[in-house]
Amino acid sequence: MGKKPGGKPYKCSFCGRSAGEVTSLIAGPDVYICDICVTSSVDILKSNIAAYSAPKPKKDTRKLTPAGIKEVLDQFVIGQDRAKRILSVAVYNHYKRVNSDNILFDLDDVEIEKSNILLLGPTGVGKTLLAQTLSKILDVPFAIADATTITEAGYVGDDVETVLVHLLQASDYNLERAQKGIVYIDEIDKIARKSESSSITRDVSGEGVQQALLKILEGTIAGVPPKGGRKHPEQNLINVNTKNILFIVGGAFEGIEKIIAARINKSKYGFAADIDEKHHLNDDELLAAAAPEDLLRFGLIPELIGRIPVIAPLHSLGEEALKNILLKPKNAILKQYKKLFAYENIELEFDPFAIDAMVKKAIERKTGARALRSTVEEFMIDIMFDLPSRETPCKCIITREVIEEGADPIFIEGEKQSA
Ligand code: ADP
Repeated sequence: MGKKPGGKPYKCSFCGRSAGEVTSLIAGPDVYICDICVTSSVDILKSNIAAYSAPKPKKDTRKLTPAGIKEVLDQFVIGQDRAKRILSVAVYNHYKRVNSDNILFDLDDVEIEKSNILLLGPTGVGKTLLAQTLSKILDVPFAIADATTITEAGYVGDDVETVLVHLLQASDYNLERAQKGIVYIDEIDKIARKSESSSITRDVSGEGVQQALLKILEGTIAGVPPKGGRKHPEQNLINVNTKNILFIVGGAFEGIEKIIAARINKSKYGFAADIDEKHHLNDDELLAAAAPEDLLRFGLIPELIGRIPVIAPLHSLGEEALKNILLKPKNAILKQYKKLFAYENIELEFDPFAIDAMVKKAIERKTGARALRSTVEEFMIDIMFDLPSRETPCKCIITREVIEEGADPIFIEGEKQSA
């Protein structure tokens, strides 16, 4: 390749070098590219791909101590001290096990087993919040699943692998990240078998589901349909190794207090004492004394209990705790409303009696802190509906009457700000 038919030399369309100046010149329809430009184009493409797919800078979870983990949990979750301590240690050990490739002593034969965790406590006391906050601290993908939606393979409902689909989605299908994530499975108590010895009739959503869960909890390669739903033969499956996935399961285990009380009394007197005789222990104290055999009597199968070696009890939330939940966490509900009002140029203030009234209303609903948001939302919706955006800053005071009698809040107009 020397000169074009018209006599002009062939040139690289990108750098302008002539055919004589380069080793090779590749021709396209009316364009030419030399070997030098091809090489530098490849370099550009490589660096673009590297930049695009570079892993996000990760938090170094190895620097976190159990005390450090608890400190962060404290900023978001009120109370639940014992559960936080147990979780902090368990999670610290889990990620040490997952991340450690070099330890000083020759303990290669010792394999640290994974410690899945059971959060045991009434509804609305922070079980999901704890699991969710942990995943944020550790910067790992987090997924929530509901045990009641899972059924034994072959029955109508979700396969147990759908639990892992959510984790894949939460990690943008980055398999490596997903395999170190946290899965929270709620309502685990709802898949208890109906009685300790019921196996005559098929227990579709009970024991069968427990058996299915068992495998992914202990560590297996699970074939996961990328979009969830039921598996079918022609589908491509993503193989997810669950060995390093931390499973946190939660449940209220309603009625387990009686089982625990009976066990405690029995061990004291050598026979099953009257169940009403709880020996002055209240429900929270009884839950704190929960042991694997109580879970067995409740209806979990022994193999599953064996795979969840850590039991973290949560206590019910009293008035003081609910008040603190309204006010103190980093993203407390009332702080969120204050911010929303600030956008409208309004300073929102809650009278202390109003806060007491909100807590009282929430307690009546018996759903723990869950009732707080709905209680607050109920009266705030109307106030916000009528709230015009103010030109001049003003103050809005929520009084007890607003909560109890549906009265209007007090507005105090502020000074017009000089431009
Ligand atoms: P559950 O124990 O039923 O999983 P959740 O963790 O889902 O309860 O809590 C329900 C709501 O109440 C959430 O909005 C959560 O923010 C709030 N909440 C519950 N417990 C606490 C707590 N101990 N500290 C702060 N907020 C809490």
